[in-house]
Amino acid sequence: MNRSICVLPGDGIGPEVVSQSLKVLNAVADRFGHRFEYEEALIGGAAIDLTGDPLPQTTLDLCRKSDAVFLGAVGGPKWDQGNGPRPEAGLLGIRKELGLFANLRPVILHPQLSGGCPLKSERVAGGVDLLIVRELTGDVYFGEPAGRGCEQGLRTAFNNMIYREDEIERIARLAFKLAGERKGRVCSVDKANVLEVSRLWREVVIEVAADYPEVELSHLYIDNAAMQLILRPGEFDVILTGNLFGDILSDEAAVVSGSIGMLPSASLGEEHALYEPIHGSAPDIAGRDLANPMAAILSAAMLLRHSFGLEREARAVEQAVSAVLAAGFRTGDIMEPGMRRLSCSQTGELICRKINEQD
Ligand code: NAD
Repeated sequence: MNRSICVLPGDGIGPEVVSQSLKVLNAVADRFGHRFEYEEALIGGAAIDLTGDPLPQTTLDLCRKSDAVFLGAVGGPKWDQGNGPRPEAGLLGIRKELGLFANLRPVILHPQLSGGCPLKSERVAGGVDLLIVRELTGDVYFGEPAGRGCEQGLRTAFNNMIYREDEIERIARLAFKLAGERKGRVCSVDKANVLEVSRLWREVVIEVAADYPEVELSHLYIDNAAMQLILRPGEFDVILTGNLFGDILSDEAAVVSGSIGMLPSASLGEEHALYEPIHGSAPDIAGRDLANPMAAILSAAMLLRHSFGLEREARAVEQAVSAVLAAGFRTGDIMEPGMRRLSCSQTGELICRKINEQD
């Protein structure tokens, strides 16, 4: 298979974790006989420094003509001062421009890392392996009208929570399809006891469910979902939700996995897809070869699975990550007594070696 990947290293630890991920993709290419071509482009603070724009047109053009986009992280204190352009605007811009309507965040608690999970061990005894499917381009974040006003001499502000049925339907279909490839359960999260938007959400999700009889559908109100996620995280399979609720739930779920350095993500659209670790640019450890590259490497596995349909290759990467953990190797963020500490680049190299050693 010949495929092109647009690589956006970004800022801080972004370039460090991206370079380890490319090593791993190359190991996969060698092992399974594929050819991946990479072209690098600017985004975030690095792009502001060179062009004044966090998302230059040349970057967007390259993203559009590539088979997939792989991003490190953006941002840092250097660009936080003043009223100049912000690196994060590059991230929001790219999601919008590429029409990435679905954000997928798998949350896995590796048994070897259960010590890093803040929940009591009995709550995660059966393991955690859930997938959050969050709608990314609608909801109160983009609803119009939005703005400020004045009522009876008092400042007011308003946003519009709005979903069209086709927006709900396409994200629901994706969630049901993915659940069919996993444990076969979708839990749709809304606030249908209060919000009209949520009542439409629930109506459409139930209609879509009829096309997926093999998948079991349940519903939770967002407040209850937030509780259940920490009371019994192991019982979830796919959590389907809108943009606002998904924003909050996905960060809550991230804590369960023990370290932000372990969590990958995919943002999918009709024509394009972008893969990135969920962590930021970690300026506090940047440039010192200390970052955990596993979140980025697991994002590369998602790229192989969702953009290239290479399930066996994706699993090879995931198994190699598990094998490194099982062998007792850790980066600083997940270090525990008795384990052996590795740098970012050593971790990448070891994961490549594990891929080569697989039967
Ligand atoms: P952060 O995720 O960068 O860091 C939070 C903490 O986690 C830090 O202590 C950091 O050292 C640690 N950490 C993060 N990733 C790690 C890894 N792979 N290995 C080891 N430790 C890791 O979040 P922050 O400090 O709030 O933000 C820093 C910058 O990143 C800000 O400019 C912010 O806007 C930006 N940001 C970018 C993204 C993105 O690019 N998707 C996401 C979040 C934050």
